[in-house]
Amino acid sequence: GTLTVGGLAEKLEKDTSEIIKKLMTLGIMATKNQDIDEDSIELICEEYGVEVEQEVEVDENDLDLYIAEDKPEDLVERPAVVTIMGHVDHGKTTLLDSIRDTKVTAGEAGGITQHIGAYQIEDKGKKITFLDTPGHAAFTSMRSRGAKVTDIAILVVAADDGVMPQTVEAINHAKAAEVPIIIAVNKMDKEGANPDRVMQELTEHELVPEDWGGETIFVQLSAIKREGIDDLVEMIQLVSEVEELKANPNRNASGTVIEAQLDKGRGSVATLLVQNGTLNVGDPIVVGNTFGRVRAMVNDLGRRVKTAGPSTPVEVTGLNEVPQAGDQFTVFDDEKKARQVGEARQQKQIEEKRGDKVRVSLDDLFEQIKQGEVKDINLILKADVQGSAEALAASLEKIEVEGVKVRIIHTGVGAITESDVILASASNAIVIGFNVRPDVNAKKAAESEKVDVRLHRIIYKVIEEIESAMKGMLDPEF
Ligand code: GDP
Repeated sequence: GTLTVGGLAEKLEKDTSEIIKKLMTLGIMATKNQDIDEDSIELICEEYGVEVEQEVEVDENDLDLYIAEDKPEDLVERPAVVTIMGHVDHGKTTLLDSIRDTKVTAGEAGGITQHIGAYQIEDKGKKITFLDTPGHAAFTSMRSRGAKVTDIAILVVAADDGVMPQTVEAINHAKAAEVPIIIAVNKMDKEGANPDRVMQELTEHELVPEDWGGETIFVQLSAIKREGIDDLVEMIQLVSEVEELKANPNRNASGTVIEAQLDKGRGSVATLLVQNGTLNVGDPIVVGNTFGRVRAMVNDLGRRVKTAGPSTPVEVTGLNEVPQAGDQFTVFDDEKKARQVGEARQQKQIEEKRGDKVRVSLDDLFEQIKQGEVKDINLILKADVQGSAEALAASLEKIEVEGVKVRIIHTGVGAITESDVILASASNAIVIGFNVRPDVNAKKAAESEKVDVRLHRIIYKVIEEIESAMKGMLDPEF
């Protein structure tokens, strides 16, 4: 770019007259608003002992934090990243605690466990990473932001309570993300424990135990008595072997923010999950729309570390702002580039906020089908009673218009909730309410996530609307 004499003075924080005088000593006569060439800029800067920074080339790939694929021969095994989901009070938090307590203490005496949003255990020489914010809200909000961090989902179901609404939600979240599910039948110590009932109920959701000819792994345990934890860990190792989880430790790190906050003393503090490469202290880094240089890293035992390889969670300081959970990060070779990419991403985000996200909506569904942007229509169905939800789902799933099909990714009974809308946003789905309405938070979320929510009272009207939208015959809504 070009720079005027006045502009240069401003950058150097000097008076314009002083710069004009300096230029004169170099034999250049210039006025305040005149452009000066690069050589002169460099000479002046040299006089003040200031280094000139060349513009670094930043392209679209950098802005997307694009990561070139690894060659197969560079890939090595990496630990699985596990999320624990399930209905409230079924024992997610207790299970996370007991896994950590039974598996971490042994080899790591002296370490003080630190809550950084994720922790690692070691079992028979192999590590496993657990995200320790239980529940599927975190899981899905990350996915809606484009982050895929979970390799395996543990679904906790209390043996005395069975499958509950949030169990079903969790199943659908995990299925939509195509993540393998291991069932932890918890609270086996309780008097009313009935694991057969749990298995029976889960079979209705296509989670059939191996004993019954299916493929789903069930582990019976008592999180509170710490019984069955070894079995669960063994099964996680088994599944992760089947999944062949790999990464290349010998490259710049990239991954996802697990959590982040502002700390009074330390500034922006973020837990990063390294998903590929190795993160080092001192690395220039872009995280979401912010950037910086990794100043210090602390692991889940509160120890300072200098490097963090694939699947390792570390808490880092040194970012100039607080990123958001689910933000992607990438290390750049060059600090200038990291800064410019960070700034450009910030700018881009501001512009995108003005524009609109591309989302499926019934109004332009036909256009999107024609353009090949939509192959399946994802629907989330909420109804007042189970019977209508099932009837509606069965009818909708029969719809097919020129190869485009309807996929029901979640059904439930009750008002449309924020969780439904977030799932819709993550899966690019439309929400249909049958004799139910969205609650306040769901309404807000639908607005900000631009999710199409349709409300109906008559079954055939729902079918008609979807069919017409797919055929491009929908009456415009006023
Ligand atoms: P979350 O809401 O899924 O995180 O559930 P919590 O871990 O907070 O557990 C809910 C309640 O169930 C707590 O009172 C726990 O002490 C209890 N709990 C968890 N696991 C077990 C278990 O294995 N056996 C029994 N009897 N109680 C359990």
